[in-house]
Amino acid sequence: MSKIYDVLIIGGGPAGLSAGLYAGRAKLSTLILEGEKAGGQIVTTDEVENYPGSIEDTTGPKLIKRMVDQFKHFGGEMKFEEVTSYDFSQKIKKVSTSAGEYEAKTVIVATGAKPRKLGAPGEDKFTGKGVSYCATCDAAFFEDFEVFVIGGGDTAVEESLFISKFASKVTVVHRRDELKAAKSIQEKAFANEKINFIYDTEVVSIEGDGIVEKMTLRNRNTGEETVINANEEDGTFGIFVMVGYLPQTKIFENVLTLDKGGYIIGDANMKTNVDGVFVAGDCRQKTLRQVVTATSDGAIATISAEKYISEHFE
Ligand code: NAP
Repeated sequence: MSKIYDVLIIGGGPAGLSAGLYAGRAKLSTLILEGEKAGGQIVTTDEVENYPGSIEDTTGPKLIKRMVDQFKHFGGEMKFEEVTSYDFSQKIKKVSTSAGEYEAKTVIVATGAKPRKLGAPGEDKFTGKGVSYCATCDAAFFEDFEVFVIGGGDTAVEESLFISKFASKVTVVHRRDELKAAKSIQEKAFANEKINFIYDTEVVSIEGDGIVEKMTLRNRNTGEETVINANEEDGTFGIFVMVGYLPQTKIFENVLTLDKGGYIIGDANMKTNVDGVFVAGDCRQKTLRQVVTATSDGAIATISAEKYISEHFE
């Protein structure tokens, strides 16, 4: 008979890794299934200044590596397999990937969120050819080039600071008349001579011949359109799209209760509407999505799972 895990965690970002750490320390047999690479969005962050204890030299990848090591240190197993289907209708839950089927007494869904797209014509065609969603990954490609950052939240403004280390000029294009980012982040950006701001403006289209050469912007108040052309010497410029995230919950929509935005609804103990299934991290309906809240969710989800196991299996 195949192994029945105590806790099966879907997603290997901070929420899943924290859940796994707590499960391992509680001597629960634990499997994390991660469809891509460990870490989720935080691995695309250059500086994690707001996670307690991480004061210097703490990049997203370094923080995640330590979390993975710690999870494994306590006996956790991690497999890089994407979940394709599942059956949560029985007491023993089944989760399938292209590589096999796994069984568990409890499941913690920690699938996170992914960058939202603008939906502008040309965006998909030029992704990786001037359009990027990850400053840590791609900013260095724009050394001495001009860059536009689309968005007005924490990510857009914080990453524009990082990009300004490379780019010759950074322009934040925001569709509202003021930024949404935290004041402390705004202040740093306003003080940076390389960073400029265009407000009340959206992207109409992105064009080029193989690489980004042209972007059309529209002022939302006046309707006036402005065409940005690559200067002749550079031949291109960068467009970093940082307009929020979408929860990775589609696969759960008919089984778990989601809110209008697609986030999974869990209670204060991370319980979902299905017995034995818990939720943690950015895929959960909540007001603050940060590493610190993801790891907190993960810990709570595991404590709830442990209680559920003791009540239903022992
Ligand atoms: P966000 O807070 O949801 O902000 C997204 C921004 O993009 C908003 O200004 C939004 O404008 C704009 N936007 C959305 N769709 C757009 C579209 N189609 N075209 C143009 N603009 C569009 O997302 P985020 O900045 O990625 O942050 C996500 C979460 O992570 C937040 O909770 C944030 O606090 C957190 N975060 C924290 C830190 C930190 O504390 N150091 C760093 C990064 C992220 P509207 O306002 O008009 O909707």
